[in-house]
Amino acid sequence: MLKQFLSVMSRYLKPYRKYLAWAVVLNFFSQWMNVFSFVVLIPILNILFKIDSAVYEYRPMDWQHLDKETLTNNAYAWVQELIAVHGPFATLVMMGCALIVMTAIKTAGYFGSAAVMVPLRTGVVKDIRVQVYEKVLRLPLGFFSEERKGDIIARMSADVQAVENSITNSIDMLIRQPIAILVCFVTLFAVSWQLTVFVLIVAPLAGWLMGAVSRKLKRKSATVQELWGSIIAQLDETLGGLRIIKAFIAEQKMLRRFDAVNGHYRKEMNEMVIRQNAAHPMSEFLGTTIITVVLWFGGLLILNQSNLIDASTFIFYMVILYSVINPLKEFSKASYQIPVGLASMDRIDFILKAENPIKEPADPEPLASFESAIEFRDVTFGYAEGRNVLKHISLRVPKGKTVALVGQSGSGKSTLVDLVPRYHDVQQGEVLIDGKNIKGVRISELRSLIGNVNQEAILFNDTFFNNITFGVEGATMEQVVEAAKIANAHDFIMESEHGYDTMIGDRGGRLSGGQRQRVSIARAVLKNPPILILDEATSALDTESERLVQEALERLMRSRTTIAIAHRLSTIKNADEIYVLHDGEIVEQGQHDELIARNGYYKRLYDMQQL
Ligand code: ADP
Ligand code: MG
Repeated sequence: MLKQFLSVMSRYLKPYRKYLAWAVVLNFFSQWMNVFSFVVLIPILNILFKIDSAVYEYRPMDWQHLDKETLTNNAYAWVQELIAVHGPFATLVMMGCALIVMTAIKTAGYFGSAAVMVPLRTGVVKDIRVQVYEKVLRLPLGFFSEERKGDIIARMSADVQAVENSITNSIDMLIRQPIAILVCFVTLFAVSWQLTVFVLIVAPLAGWLMGAVSRKLKRKSATVQELWGSIIAQLDETLGGLRIIKAFIAEQKMLRRFDAVNGHYRKEMNEMVIRQNAAHPMSEFLGTTIITVVLWFGGLLILNQSNLIDASTFIFYMVILYSVINPLKEFSKASYQIPVGLASMDRIDFILKAENPIKEPADPEPLASFESAIEFRDVTFGYAEGRNVLKHISLRVPKGKTVALVGQSGSGKSTLVDLVPRYHDVQQGEVLIDGKNIKGVRISELRSLIGNVNQEAILFNDTFFNNITFGVEGATMEQVVEAAKIANAHDFIMESEHGYDTMIGDRGGRLSGGQRQRVSIARAVLKNPPILILDEATSALDTESERLVQEALERLMRSRTTIAIAHRLSTIKNADEIYVLHDGEIVEQGQHDELIARNGYYKRLYDMQQL
């Protein structure tokens, strides 16, 4: 566990070393202040209880070889003199003031050390979150169809939070507490090594008992976070499907499902938190037990008039010993908090360390423009092992032509066009552009040649202007207006409240389907790619907006190379070549009239739509 913790720390703490150094310095400072402030207790007790009847004489001090005894003697002598001159009460007041001042300095030190840790903690958490986001942007689409969205959101939010709560908070403890323990033990040894040896024999026993409490916590916590993922997933699904839930009056059903997963979450959480809570009372109990045992031992020494330690010093010793208990307790808290954080870190690493199967070639061939053709050569592809969605596909899209793909839903049309921009990689065969295997060219170069218009227009919660210029740096207003006009979008954009600066709402929620589609066409027009992929671009639309969109598409397709998937066959009648897909295979190809004449799959699809 420690090894994993240190490796996590070394991954994230580097930029914040400066803060760490300051925390160490300030902690040492305030710990020593802590010890010194309690030293004042000794003369105070002596005065109050009039225990000390001995008379102390100053001894000359040799600053090179300060020994403890001379130092103590002279301190006592100094206090005696103060009492003689000012009286015992005034001395008590002076000692009290010294205590207050030192405590003020000490607590300021504590504050400082806590304050320098804040930027470190928030910084580490921010770094992790941004790293995960960056990775999410880079991972291929396939990664997200396998992993539920809610689960990923949970990993990015709750797990990062758990790392913050446990690990980064532990850094604080892991710096402060060992320093506190070290300083206290140095003091304890200085005061009485005999007692301290005794303490060191008793204490590890308690430590071992403590460790027994905090096993299994990491696994528990992983289960809890997974369940949190399901909760988020259900919430996400519900928000997206509210319309259907209401239509089917399924509120009760959804509620029961949500209640069930929450009940499960609660049960696991109970077990985990109860286990955590056991640690605190347990360490308190063990701490007090140790103190008592030491009290017996020291009491025995004092009652027997042994000259190992005097009563006031013994009380000082006990105070210091007592102040070791707390750091030890906190330290043991880290031992059950860190596993919780490490479990979450594992879940975050699942994303961070996920391998991206879509690899950039080491030595990319240049692909600055599109010159001759896109070609599929005996391509076989499946999302999962053993079930091929595309089988032995060979087709050629010459430059400037329009090729249409038709076929039943589920026949693999969308999958086929997703292979061109390398959203997935083919398992067998190759996809070539201008005779170059697309696996051998830079992904950004490949994708910049391609424009997409899909069934669902994907827009962002931003202005019309920013949605249209999404993929293009530094476009001017004239260019945007031009693109919008080509896409039949200019008129309705101008009618909106602030024209091109109107916010379009979450995912374009304030627009109709046809309007959203025309904005996404304007985006493709502005990008001006030589290759165009249209995946059922008009199928979600009513006839009126379909006409406007179709018109826009035809303008967009002019002088480009297009692969069009069409739901309504009427829209692709004029394609240069039509491929009919059935169950992942090309079963027919030709032009519209030829295919009708052949009286096969195409004819059947066509007839069904004429009804
Ligand atoms: P079409 O666009 O022709 O309707 P698709 O290419 O979307 O068909 O789907 C072809 C087949 O691949 C279907 O059987 C579908 O279930 C499957 N499929 C599509 N996308 C995925 C995915 N992300 N993961 C696994 N299977 C998928
Ligand atoms: Mg499809």
